[in-house]
Amino acid sequence: MLIETFIRKQLRLKAHRVTKVESGGDRMMIAIDRLGNRQLRCGVCRRRCRQVHSVRKEREWRDLSMRQMPLILRYQPRRVQCRRCGVRVEDVPWAEPWARVTRALAHAVARLGRELSWQGTARQYGLNWKTVAGIVQRAVRYGLRNRKRPPVHWIGIDEVSRRKGQVYLTVVYDLERRVLLWVGEDRTEEAVKKFFTQELGKRRCATLQVVCMDMWAAYVNLVREHAPQARILFDRFHIVKHLQEAVDEVRRSEMRRLTGQEKVTFKRTRWLLLKNPWNLTHEQKERLSTLVRWNSPIVRAYYLKESFQLFWEYKQEKRAQDLLCKWMRSAMCSRLEPFKKFVRMLRSHLSGILPWTKLRLSNGAVEGMNNKIKSISHRSFGFRNAQYFIAAIYHGCARLPLPEEI
Ligand SMILES: [Zn+2]
Repeated sequence: MLIETFIRKQLRLKAHRVTKVESGGDRMMIAIDRLGNRQLRCGVCRRRCRQVHSVRKEREWRDLSMRQMPLILRYQPRRVQCRRCGVRVEDVPWAEPWARVTRALAHAVARLGRELSWQGTARQYGLNWKTVAGIVQRAVRYGLRNRKRPPVHWIGIDEVSRRKGQVYLTVVYDLERRVLLWVGEDRTEEAVKKFFTQELGKRRCATLQVVCMDMWAAYVNLVREHAPQARILFDRFHIVKHLQEAVDEVRRSEMRRLTGQEKVTFKRTRWLLLKNPWNLTHEQKERLSTLVRWNSPIVRAYYLKESFQLFWEYKQEKRAQDLLCKWMRSAMCSRLEPFKKFVRMLRSHLSGILPWTKLRLSNGAVEGMNNKIKSISHRSFGFRNAQYFIAAIYHGCARLPLPEEI
């Protein structure tokens, strides 16, 4: 088979043909022309058109490489007279309108872009970063338009911070299918409302049963307004995080108070206090018990943290509530300001904490995806633009369908 025929078949050309293939240094140039009088399609509505209006100047498209040699397609697109749309540039079968790469290359780039950073993907295909960004954005737009939207029952709302907590994104997961549903800028009521009104809409909001989230008023208000039938469950991992922050704050304020010699002993105790005791090594246990003998605020904080964790084991709501109330009373008597703050937060959110005894659901189910988002954010120094970051998150976590190869 001639290489011209091979390429024509690969590109599935019907109204076009390959006229010449020549190597141009480090690239392979493929000249394409119209095939006889076959009808071309309108670039807007894709209908066949009888009349060709004019010939435009030559354009180039990058295709996949053949043995390291990038293939370049060259063609002079025709303008056709469409009965519906008027005079339009024809639809070329190998590329999206205005794209400068072929569908096959775009597909390969989009696939690799799920595994590698955009820089890495660009390097692999000898493209620049912007081209990859454009391809991924188009793939995401296509995927969002064409993805299946089955009813959702359990969702988790979470926030992702960029640039050390100055900028926030909100992400929403389907906890049943473990897939990202939505990501948007900011974490305000106004911004996240779009998830309920645009992505879900009234009908799909009505099937929500549980919404798992941090104790964050904006999210609570939104659920109450748009899915009043759904139960709010404050996420275990967020509650534990707040608890650990309280321990940490006590430790830090103690450190400030200590004298030089005492400080040396207490250095590097942060992980001793935050870790689960059964994960400590023998030597770490020794150090912890010294710590326990020495300093009472840190010890009180440590015991409070450990005794709170019992809550997660309970299955009867009444008993869990008794335990929690007892715990909150002792925390209030601890003279530790960070813990008092934590108790006040628990008190005003109890109705969303106790359902844990029955629901046993948490955003921990999608922790892997949260980590993936973190690594997307780390490996991409670019992303000054939130839209790129959002596209990368959708691309990596939403399991969107990709545009077809041909
Ligand atoms: Zn048309």
